[in-house]
Amino acid sequence: MKLSIEQLDLGGRRVFLRADLNVPLDGDAVTDDTRLTGVIPTIEYALGKGAAVVLASHLGRPKGTPSPEYSLRPVAERLGALLGRPIALAPDCVGEETEARARALQPGEILLLENLRFHAEEEANDDGFARQLAALADCYVNDAFAAAHRAHASIEAITHHLKPAAAGLLMRRELEALTRILESPERPVVAILGGAKVSDKLALVEHLLERVDAILIGGGMAFTFLRAMGHDVGRSLVEADRLDTARGVLESARRRGVQLVLPVDAVVAAGVDSSEGRAVGIREIPDTQMGLDIGPLTIDRFAVALRRARTVVWNGPMGVFEKTPFAAGTLALARAVAEGAAFSVVGGGDTVAAVSRAGVAERIGYISTAGGAFLEFLEGRTLPGVAALTEAA
Ligand code: AMP
Repeated sequence: MKLSIEQLDLGGRRVFLRADLNVPLDGDAVTDDTRLTGVIPTIEYALGKGAAVVLASHLGRPKGTPSPEYSLRPVAERLGALLGRPIALAPDCVGEETEARARALQPGEILLLENLRFHAEEEANDDGFARQLAALADCYVNDAFAAAHRAHASIEAITHHLKPAAAGLLMRRELEALTRILESPERPVVAILGGAKVSDKLALVEHLLERVDAILIGGGMAFTFLRAMGHDVGRSLVEADRLDTARGVLESARRRGVQLVLPVDAVVAAGVDSSEGRAVGIREIPDTQMGLDIGPLTIDRFAVALRRARTVVWNGPMGVFEKTPFAAGTLALARAVAEGAAFSVVGGGDTVAAVSRAGVAERIGYISTAGGAFLEFLEGRTLPGVAALTEAA
């Protein structure tokens, strides 16, 4: 168990709070508040205990040099509005002026540091840079689960200089939900996997095979499995160099008695820009067409498996859901997950977007704010940002 912010003595102290405020921007407007609202409980908790908060985040990929388009200024304004209190923005994340601003903070005040990635040392996990960050506060809290798979200076190296290092409330909720899935799930456990490439998800499939009762596979990645089973899949996305691995996975699932459910039909079209698709059986995909969504029979099959599930974990869309003609499968699955009685966990930007588009976000057990970190955690990998936290006594 990792130390949590609730176990820290915060009164009169300055907390370095590493958050993931990497929000989408349209000019100066924040177009999705999810990551901001995610960290608000932790900020309010710390301020309520009499702490001052030194808030830090990256934004985009400025490649180690300051650039106005990646400034956190719009974030300071939007987060301040959501919190109902002003957030001062430091001119940089390190340096004399930032240090003076941090030292002057009073309990109840928030100082947002400028983009950590304006310094190449952040992504290099540089020790000297981490020391400078550490000098800004008295204790460390990490609420950036979405960035916990990165060994960056504000995530990893800083914890060697600023102790204790505790999980924030959002980090704790993420870890609890994902640990519950992997370690003590109610059975049957059903995983739903989709998205474009099977190569991105192989480690995940292999790890899940040891833990779940069924895996439903849709999206582009299904076609490599179907091809490996000998089906002609037309021009559908197939990773030819992964056919052997896919066969190995199918065999391993059979040996373990894990049900690996693949599409029995697909919505096909000439390409992603086609204005409509047509559902065909999986053996009837024309040579000139590609599968761009799961078909209605597959939706029914997947829904039946989901009705029996007590735990569901989902990552990856079932089709090219960004395009209306190929969105039906993903949206139908979102509704099926929401309607079931299972404890459900959904992660990854596309999947979370699909769940909100289907209007069922409130009925999902837990929606993770993470993509890459979500996948790496479920692959059984140790996340540097979690490993770096202090063990609870
Ligand atoms: P990923 O980032 O691997 O989770 O993949 C997400 C992307 O997969 C989305 O942009 C979808 O459009 C795409 N995708 C889903 N199904 C298919 C498919 N059948 N063929 C091609 N791309 C797909």
